[in-house]
Amino acid sequence: MKTKHHIPSEVLSAYSTGSLPEAFSIIVACHISLCDQCRAEVEAFDTIGGVLIDNEEMANIDLNSFEKTMKLIDKQDNSHLVPSLKSNDIYPTPLKNYFGGSVENIKWKSVGGGIKQAMLLNNKEASARLLSIPPGAQLPDHSHKGLEMTMVLQGSFSDEIDSFYRGDVELGDDHLTHTPKAGMDEHCICIAATEAPLVFNSWLPKLLQPFIRI
Ligand SMILES: [Zn+2]
Repeated sequence: MKTKHHIPSEVLSAYSTGSLPEAFSIIVACHISLCDQCRAEVEAFDTIGGVLIDNEEMANIDLNSFEKTMKLIDKQDNSHLVPSLKSNDIYPTPLKNYFGGSVENIKWKSVGGGIKQAMLLNNKEASARLLSIPPGAQLPDHSHKGLEMTMVLQGSFSDEIDSFYRGDVELGDDHLTHTPKAGMDEHCICIAATEAPLVFNSWLPKLLQPFIRI
């Protein structure tokens, strides 16, 4: 199924410049391994950012020109970007590094109601975890203190916003109140990144600054 819910450009550019907390970068890396559209956008940000850093004179070129940008992209070495994946593999390659490449290493813990979670990363900036929700089960009400980003790896969930399938990303902040419910067909497995409450707003304003001033 084609991805419907993408990652905002501001977040993709922060990923490209390395200013996104690692927990969120994992999701971006996973998403762009599944989504050609967002991967192309990250490649464009990488190219433009690299050009500006490498050669300030180049900053004078018209970066709005699609043609010029595409020419720059052609020349770029994208070998550091993650490869595309076979769709039968639910855990994208960037994620596998966090559990040693083997699903048997995932340390699932029951959190009640048949819901399980496995912490992948937890530092002072943000945390990332896997969630497994039984078919038809509803996540308990949870408040958002800061930014939360969720991507579906298997199955689906629906909330007041929309339905989300493999590769779809939902971005929520403290204004979003939602009650996600897993689809009926299979366990919904997601990866979720949550900003640590203490650093709320520390990187978001930077994100909203224009990446390049033209
Ligand atoms: Zn996308």
